[in-house]
Amino acid sequence: MNLIFLGPPGAGKGTHAQRLMHEFGIPQISTGDMLRQAIKAGTPLGLSAQRYIEAGELVPDEVVIGIVKERLQAEDCQKGYILDGFPRTVPQAEALSQFARIDMALNLSLADEVIIRRLSGRRVCSQCGSTFHTSNLGGKDTCPKCGEKLVQRKDDAPDTIRNRLNVYAVQTAPLIDYYEGQGLLRTVECDPEATADETYLQVKEALGIA
Ligand code: AMP
Repeated sequence: MNLIFLGPPGAGKGTHAQRLMHEFGIPQISTGDMLRQAIKAGTPLGLSAQRYIEAGELVPDEVVIGIVKERLQAEDCQKGYILDGFPRTVPQAEALSQFARIDMALNLSLADEVIIRRLSGRRVCSQCGSTFHTSNLGGKDTCPKCGEKLVQRKDDAPDTIRNRLNVYAVQTAPLIDYYEGQGLLRTVECDPEATADETYLQVKEALGIA
């Protein structure tokens, strides 16, 4: 199954994509993670992407299209994959349709005020990459899983969050109509009070794999 996860930043795309990856053995392909790894490694890709990411802007289409096209050729994508955070513009979706056959696009929908609350309290482990919310950390700044230091992503600063939401509304939200028009869209209205397990079940129901 070849899936796309759509939805604003902080809606839970990464969390649910990772759970599906573990349950069904198909890779989660996160362009955000790939770009952050490139920045950490100091590669030319990372150097060119860094200023866009830190400002909450999108990296140019041709850059991300190139890395996804290459990634989908890997052996582990032959049985399916979950694209998390790609495509983010209509030109990216059009390019993707030239080299991939998508089965479903899942749209995780969540109100802006909930997203701002979630992202501004998000902390990421510098070692294992696990994410947590400050409300569950009891004031600690170390990872409950591996004990390493937790950090805040630069693009989770309040002004940058607002810019990312704006970028999402203008450049990415049109993909909802795009995939609706192709009959591929499934939507989950995320309830901010629901547990992660409850929302994950809704995700699987929407995909017809519960
Ligand atoms: P994410 O981790 O998915 O929230 O992505 C973090 C940042 O990486 C985004 O705010 C963009 O700057 C960049 N990025 C990730 N995926 C894409 C994409 N498909 N197109 C352009 N920029 C992207």
